[in-house]
Amino acid sequence: MDGERRAKPVAIVGAGPIGLATALDLARFGVPCVLLEEDLQVSEGSRAIVLTRRSLEILQQLGVEKPLIEKGLPWSQGRSFYKGQEIYKMLMPYDSDDRYLPGLNIQQQYIEEYLLGYCERHPLIDIRWGQRVVAIAQGDAAVTLGIDTPDGEYELTAEWVVAADGGRSTVRKLMQLRMEGRSYPGRFVIADIKAKIDLPTERLCFFDPAWNPGNNVLVHRQPDDLWRIDFRLPDGETEEQALEPALLKRRINAVLSMIKQEVEWQLDWATVYSANTLTLGKFVHGRVLLTGDAAHLLPIFGVRGINTGLQDSNNLAWKLAFVINGWAEPPLLDSYSQERVQAAREICEEGGKSTRFMTPPSPGTRLLRDAVLSWSLSEDFLKDLMHWRTSRPHDYRDSSLNAFAEADREFHDGVACGQPLRNIKLAANDHLFDAIGSKAGFHLLLFVGEEGLTRDLREILAATENLAYPIHRLIVTPATPLDDPQADPIVGDAQGRTYSKYDASPGTVYLVRPDLHVCARWRRANPLQVVQALRQATGFAEGCCLS
Ligand SMILES: Cc1cc2nc3c(=O)[nH]c(=O)nc-3n(C[C@H](O)[C@H](O)[C@H](O)COP(=O)(O)OP(=O)(O)OC[C@H]3O[C@@H](n4cnc5c(N)ncnc54)[C@H](O)[C@@H]3O)c2cc1C
Repeated sequence: MDGERRAKPVAIVGAGPIGLATALDLARFGVPCVLLEEDLQVSEGSRAIVLTRRSLEILQQLGVEKPLIEKGLPWSQGRSFYKGQEIYKMLMPYDSDDRYLPGLNIQQQYIEEYLLGYCERHPLIDIRWGQRVVAIAQGDAAVTLGIDTPDGEYELTAEWVVAADGGRSTVRKLMQLRMEGRSYPGRFVIADIKAKIDLPTERLCFFDPAWNPGNNVLVHRQPDDLWRIDFRLPDGETEEQALEPALLKRRINAVLSMIKQEVEWQLDWATVYSANTLTLGKFVHGRVLLTGDAAHLLPIFGVRGINTGLQDSNNLAWKLAFVINGWAEPPLLDSYSQERVQAAREICEEGGKSTRFMTPPSPGTRLLRDAVLSWSLSEDFLKDLMHWRTSRPHDYRDSSLNAFAEADREFHDGVACGQPLRNIKLAANDHLFDAIGSKAGFHLLLFVGEEGLTRDLREILAATENLAYPIHRLIVTPATPLDDPQADPIVGDAQGRTYSKYDASPGTVYLVRPDLHVCARWRRANPLQVVQALRQATGFAEGCCLS
């Protein structure tokens, strides 16, 4: 409004969890941004309540995980019941090498509040509240946003715009982008109640309870003695009817009676929602990049919304930072779209199955679902059909950024090209991901033997010394830490856990992208191969990143 016309490098529309995380991720690479938020505060009401382990690992990379861990409630199992009998127990994958349990229950407003605290303290992040984006115009070199504020309108020009403005994205509508996929007719009430209930932190699911025949109920514990009760409405019931206080109270009492906790409670929040499996077919449109709910709308079964968005922003931020810093060309951004659209489509497929099980959209699917439920009372083989397919880290195995596929195939196990790194417990409270920390850039894992660095590995260290962009070299050694000034951190792994989990032997090299997905690995590598793989991963190799 003061008439400054200089283009900002990045404007992020929307300071929800994904806009905030993108801002912090860009800042790690030294990229400043303006964060535009139409509201005057973080979100209110009950929305996402579960962070997955992968999300916590991403948040650890941003250096913001501590308050979340302190506040949240970790959990690792869920149980499903039918006609009062437990028919399925899901133990979510957990390994003694993991730092975090598979799930952490924490309300979205805390996630946003904590992220916001870090953003507000960061000199590269300019947060502007009460600024509603109402217009967008793209030129060859910049995008101009029209912004409505309580003090009037102004225009802001940015080289790149990240649209993180949520499920009702204004940017998506202004650009007339249409989503593919489907919406489901079943509607659910979310009611958060405050109550002292003495049950462990786990996810409970009840099919066909006597008080809500044919439908299902989910119960989840949250911090602050809050409990999320989530149930499907009987067909034909309207949102107003479902939220009518006397009816809602009767139903909540019925749930409490079902879990044998007839305690005093107060309603904290209630709303009605429905499930969608919708995604854009492209997340990159010129200089406008869509992310989070602005790019896809996913069912909440399997905690997909916020956790998918965090994987989007972690994938997008490094690529955008590389382009802005002149370390890569804009076509690198096409790989963001390729990788994350594929992830969104996989989630729509998986989430669609969960949704059809929760809210059968036709008499046929209902018949099948009910058959599975009733047989599960006596037959074990059907239980896997009740797996609710929780949000998972995505595997970019087909990414154009991966290199040396043949060398990848020489491994029998370990972390394949496209997969995210696996954490390793090295000592009591010391993990591989702590050594990586929040360092921004590529990572090279070099495995050595008792004799220390070989000539090949020394040459690789020398060849990656003075690159334009940051690359962190991490030496894994079975001995007490080597005294080698060439490496960044040196990981002493006397028990060999890293070697076995990574199917590594002395001489093995892993090249890892800034979002911690492996993009090349070799049993034995030479410096030329590593440099070639880095060219591929930054979009410079021929044939790479062409959409
Ligand atoms: C009732 C409900 C329950 C949910 N439960 C779960 C759950 O259990 N698990 C789960 O993983 N997910 C859940 N979700 C989904 C989860 O909340 C979203 O996936 C998550 O909020 C997406 O984050 P985002 O930053 O992409 O979008 P949002 O959180 O929607 O943030 C978008 C931001 O953009 C701002 N904005 C919008 N338009 C403009 C504009 N024109 N100009 C400037 N600012 C703008 C908004 O004010 C908002 O702050 C739930 C959602 C709802 C609604």
